[in-house]
Amino acid sequence: MTTNPTTGTTEREFTSLGDDEIQQIADRSAAAFETWRELPAGERAAALARTAELYEKRSDELAQTITTEMGKPIKQSAGEVQLAADIYRWYAEHGPDLLETETLDPQGASESIVQTRPVGPLVGVMPWNYPYYQVARFVAPNLLAGNTIILKHASICAASSALMAEILHEASVPQDAYINAYASSDQVADLIAHPSIRGVSLTGSEAAGAAVAETAAKNLKKSVLELGGSDPFVLLDSADLARTVRIAARARLSNVGQACNSPKRFIVLDGLYDDFVTGLVEQFENASVGDPTDPDIQVGPLSSVDARDTVAEQVRTAVDQGATLHTGGQALDGDGAFLQPAVLTGITPDMDAYREEIFGPVAMVYRASSVDEAVRIANDVDFGLSGSVWSTDTAKAAEVADRLEVGMAYVNEHGTTLPGLPFGGVKRSGYGRELGRWGMGEFVNVKLRRTS
Ligand code: NDP
Repeated sequence: MTTNPTTGTTEREFTSLGDDEIQQIADRSAAAFETWRELPAGERAAALARTAELYEKRSDELAQTITTEMGKPIKQSAGEVQLAADIYRWYAEHGPDLLETETLDPQGASESIVQTRPVGPLVGVMPWNYPYYQVARFVAPNLLAGNTIILKHASICAASSALMAEILHEASVPQDAYINAYASSDQVADLIAHPSIRGVSLTGSEAAGAAVAETAAKNLKKSVLELGGSDPFVLLDSADLARTVRIAARARLSNVGQACNSPKRFIVLDGLYDDFVTGLVEQFENASVGDPTDPDIQVGPLSSVDARDTVAEQVRTAVDQGATLHTGGQALDGDGAFLQPAVLTGITPDMDAYREEIFGPVAMVYRASSVDEAVRIANDVDFGLSGSVWSTDTAKAAEVADRLEVGMAYVNEHGTTLPGLPFGGVKRSGYGRELGRWGMGEFVNVKLRRTS
């Protein structure tokens, strides 16, 4: 069942997978693998190129679907559809080269070559926050490599996951090379354990990641995990503070704050701190909150009323524990899952908010008296997804960026995602990488052949 988080109304009901279908879809995926892997890489690439075209052709329908089912502001939905198209196209264009056989420098008398071979059927478990993008970055490299896929999307994204399957099939990916499965968590575990399945990739919460990784490990299957984050945005100095604040606010409020790599903690050096907080509060108060189908609305509902209540509760707890709430944090009246964007300061290590991820439109601002203190605060969380450093002195900022314990460090930008750049984190943000050649390297057999 999908519920529109703007109105609280039920949109559509979908039929879940039966337990007796697990064996059947694993077998179908394994059978499809035998033919899909044998196609020339160029043919698989052509299917991805067609997928990209279809995403662009059906952009409005795709965008409206996720705005309806998870509440993303419509312009951002359209942007996400384009990003997914770009990813399919990038792998269509660059993927075959990444699969080329490599001849190694002579190592003894024999010839040594390394081939990149697919491993087999994979399970993907994907979240609701970027329904098309998250799927594209797992599906594009793996279909191109010759693997087949069973995709379990977030329950609230049942309509968009059906559309994605329809488009891939229309683009001539065989029905069983990509199977959309409305599976429960237990059924995902059964799938991972099935002997035909070779690996699993999950994007989502730490709890879901731990459950999937445990099942994968017990069954000696590889897993890739892209989990949460509490990214630092470290501000050292600025030639135009008003502009930096606008960028900060836009980044934090994008997707209503529900991004793993959103800048959730703003760590600002003493001299700029007061003006930064004042500016950010003003930006958050001026951000338009409302119907995400209106292209002028910046902040739509959260993905569900439960998600909204969780974030509101995190803000309340922070205040109860002594933090200062400068603005927002209240649920709006009505059936929609709306929350007024919030700014918190005065968060100390003994408070829950210091360590937790807040998955919604809430900014936490920290004051730092030195660069060393800023780096210490930035790294003092269990997450390590991405982080950014802002300064007019880019060399100095790059040095500070190198000290961040993250998978992706940015200077004077935050969270840029492009198909050819690696995406992934360290610490409790997960392991493995998606996108670029790194994403292609996760589920392939790097196979040596030596010939005497
Ligand atoms: P979940 O991690 O619960 O959902 C993500 C995906 O995992 C969904 O497809 C979900 O299915 C599935 N899933 C959940 N539990 C299991 C399990 N035990 N075994 C197999 N699959 C499972 O995210 P939530 O929607 O509950 O969001 C909660 C928190 O997760 C957020 O507040 C945020 O911190 C984090 N999150 C991070 C994301 C990221 O981009 N890294 C994305 C989304 C959430 P189903 O929908 O059917 O439950």
